[in-house]
Amino acid sequence: MLTELNLGNNTFKEIPAVVGHLELLKKLYLYSNHISTVSSEVIGSLKNLCVLNLNHNQIQRLPSEIKSLTKLQCLSVAHNRLEDIPAELGHLIELTEVNFTHNCLSALPQEMYHCKLLSKIYLARNQLDTLPEGIQALTKLQVLDVAGNKLSMFPAEFHQLRLKELYCEGNKFVQCDPKPSVLGQEVVSLKELVARFVLHEDRNKSSLIHKTLPNYPNCVTLLAKSCYCTSCLRPILTTWLECVLFINLKVKNKKKSLTVPVRALLCSSKCFNSGDKVYYSVVSQKPHHTLFTVEKC
Ligand SMILES: [Zn+2]
Repeated sequence: MLTELNLGNNTFKEIPAVVGHLELLKKLYLYSNHISTVSSEVIGSLKNLCVLNLNHNQIQRLPSEIKSLTKLQCLSVAHNRLEDIPAELGHLIELTEVNFTHNCLSALPQEMYHCKLLSKIYLARNQLDTLPEGIQALTKLQVLDVAGNKLSMFPAEFHQLRLKELYCEGNKFVQCDPKPSVLGQEVVSLKELVARFVLHEDRNKSSLIHKTLPNYPNCVTLLAKSCYCTSCLRPILTTWLECVLFINLKVKNKKKSLTVPVRALLCSSKCFNSGDKVYYSVVSQKPHHTLFTVEKC
């Protein structure tokens, strides 16, 4: 039975339909063709695929049926025209390596962090201005290549990752150029206050709110976007102020330690001013990424 098929360096405009009948196929190479569309029918039937290589084609989008490839370990779609990645990628829980180098991606689905075995992620030369929050879930991640994007900072808790290789040159990282300033009056909306109360109560498994919350799906959806204050670790729905920490990372592929901006999610000015960490607020992302500190009283 055919388990490996290399159709690279041909002139296919799509994945040949007959490939969809090779249900035992484990490795499929289609690099350097003229493929612009990926048929959902063909992709949906290759349930045993472990390796899929579509490098150097003209693919703009991957079908959501990619979720059928539950055994896929290595997905490579480098040098294409991808504008987004389907959220269904999050179903591919066996994935260890993804390569989306040299595409047109402006965002990534947060669901990508469901692929908890990912150890190598290649995203160089795209249009990413942010990475989704929650990256610390990728505890096996060793190699991250985000060079040549438009990132202004890394997501919160980025420094918890145990990266061996990080490539991040050629981005638009915020610069640490502190300017003293006076902190304005703190106003937290009623919606935010209620959300924080509900999130806090929901942590208590015996609370009334924890038991009744599932009856309010709209609230559950809204609260799913919650995060934790970097300083006090209390749950929050929205951050009080866009803040950043500058963190020294030691990565094996760099001789010197690397100082990178990491997003800090803070609940209040109290947390901004407390502890021994120096948080900076981002005042102007454009055009010069100026930052300033708020002086501590
Ligand atoms: Zn806090």
